[in-house]
Amino acid sequence: MVAVSLLLPNVWSFARVRQWRNPLQRASSVVSRRSFSPLSSRNINTGLQSNYSDKAAEAQIPVEQSEIIFIGTGTSEGIPRVSCLTNPIKKCTVCDKATEPGNRNRRSNTSILLRYINDLGRYNILVDAGKFFYHSALKWFPMFGVRTIDAVIITHSHADAIGGLDDLRDWTNNVQPRIPIYVAKRDFEVMKKTHYYLVDTSVVTPGAAVSDLQFNVIKEEPFIVHNLEVIPLPVWHGQGYRSLGFRFGNICYISDVSDIPEETYVLLKDCELLIMDALRPDRSSSTHFGLPRALEEVRKIQPRRTLFTGMMHLMDHDKVNEDLAKLKDTEGLDIQLSYDGLRIPVIRPLIH
Ligand SMILES: [Zn+2]
Ligand SMILES: [Zn+2]
Repeated sequence: MVAVSLLLPNVWSFARVRQWRNPLQRASSVVSRRSFSPLSSRNINTGLQSNYSDKAAEAQIPVEQSEIIFIGTGTSEGIPRVSCLTNPIKKCTVCDKATEPGNRNRRSNTSILLRYINDLGRYNILVDAGKFFYHSALKWFPMFGVRTIDAVIITHSHADAIGGLDDLRDWTNNVQPRIPIYVAKRDFEVMKKTHYYLVDTSVVTPGAAVSDLQFNVIKEEPFIVHNLEVIPLPVWHGQGYRSLGFRFGNICYISDVSDIPEETYVLLKDCELLIMDALRPDRSSSTHFGLPRALEEVRKIQPRRTLFTGMMHLMDHDKVNEDLAKLKDTEGLDIQLSYDGLRIPVIRPLIH
């Protein structure tokens, strides 16, 4: 048994939502959170660094443990890039490595799955279903025993966030009657065009099977998904284009961001685990943070721990992580890159 003091930094909580809530925001939670005990033995977990290639570590996450699974951690085109592998002149080291089975440079579209367990049951809450959703689900769902999709929350309506909505038909045809989708109005308007037959199923030929999705339009204020309070974190994803990050307890997820509006910082207070966009090692793009800007934001937000996501092929997993690890000694910052298949245990709210 590893000492408790070593374990606690690896375990994150959905509880304590009210401690940091912006008083100006509508109190919409119906979740009862009467106590919180980080020392409870059933919440302690040693599986932080577990991954698909380490069955022993995987087994350390108890069945009744809430967790986050990184379904995808890469850019829209995916890593490796096909064009890098077919380039006869220039060799791309990262994309080459990404072809090796189990290599952490292999990345599909950004997405996480919250396996959330409360007293009513266990719920698989997916954030985004992008172009590569089918391939990601094929790889991780059977491996991690994920059967149902109990909700999908959408960050924005780019193809790498919603391109997999059509593939949800496998679930609504064969696993469950329907899937609730939580989406901002502007992105729902886009879906009416890109996925018109899923929004208005009356246009579908009788007998043809399409995903049965139940759309819930969300505003930039807290909403409840299976008794879990979700706080939208509005950010800019390119000039004039809004994307949403989400806060679950003390975990903040921002996958697509080029700028953070001042009013969103208050929602990021006391964040213990920050999962944030970091596209490339040298600079930001017009739509995404690069590593220097992402680090600047981490210093400003001051989360207890940070995992970057949305990395392109210029980000070598081991090399960048080695550099980031030095920040722990120099600045006390706990920052690493995430990778597809990474599982992070989460403490569930305790209810008497
Ligand atoms: Zn490449
Ligand atoms: Zn995007």
